[in-house]
Amino acid sequence: MKTIALTLALVASSTNLLPGPSDSIQTAEGVLKITPVTHGSLMLEFKGKVIHIDPWGRGDYTGLPQADLILITDIHGDHLDPAQVQKLKRSGTQIVAPQAVARTVTEAVVLHNGQKKVVAGLEIEAVPMYNHKRGPSPGKLYHDRGRGNGYLLTLGGKRVYISGDTACISEMKALTAIDIAFVTMNLPYTMPPEEAAECVKAFKPRIVYPYHYRGSDLDVFTRALESHPDIEVRIRDWY
Ligand SMILES: [Zn+2]
Repeated sequence: MKTIALTLALVASSTNLLPGPSDSIQTAEGVLKITPVTHGSLMLEFKGKVIHIDPWGRGDYTGLPQADLILITDIHGDHLDPAQVQKLKRSGTQIVAPQAVARTVTEAVVLHNGQKKVVAGLEIEAVPMYNHKRGPSPGKLYHDRGRGNGYLLTLGGKRVYISGDTACISEMKALTAIDIAFVTMNLPYTMPPEEAAECVKAFKPRIVYPYHYRGSDLDVFTRALESHPDIEVRIRDWY
């Protein structure tokens, strides 16, 4: 009897110590599961399909399933990691990427900014991501307009936006009816949390996850959105 009680207590405490790293969100067609992996990398699961976004080998992929669909946003190493793409691929995996990435990942279905396509049975739109002023040297930008893709997915009626590495651009401000947004914030490459909050106030997603936020003060972001209780900020374990 004692042993059983002790075992149950251990199970309960280990459950408490190790909370599930994923979020589940109900859609019109079942649950959308969101798993943060690291930095700009995440995994979505929906209707039995596994979507890996910007899979990067610095993340811990132990135990995560292989991909039905891989979305890649840009050419930088924290987004385009061919070795990790290989590990997550199986026969039938489809990859969507901008042209600049398809030079390396040659089997990718190319989407340009503004293009829409159904791939792996899922509705995907490529949207712009770029800097207007931040760059490695005068006259250069970290992310040139048109090179990379943010993505807009429609999953069970929920519109899910993945920003990719971007500043607060007019195209982001103009997004409409976004249910779930993953928004980058880190300097010098993308934008500071106050700029990200300004953009989020403009397009008003119902739920926003800061991601790709290394070195950013997320309290600044959260505080800036306190005046907008209609936008739920969810802080999860990216970096
Ligand atoms: Zn990045």
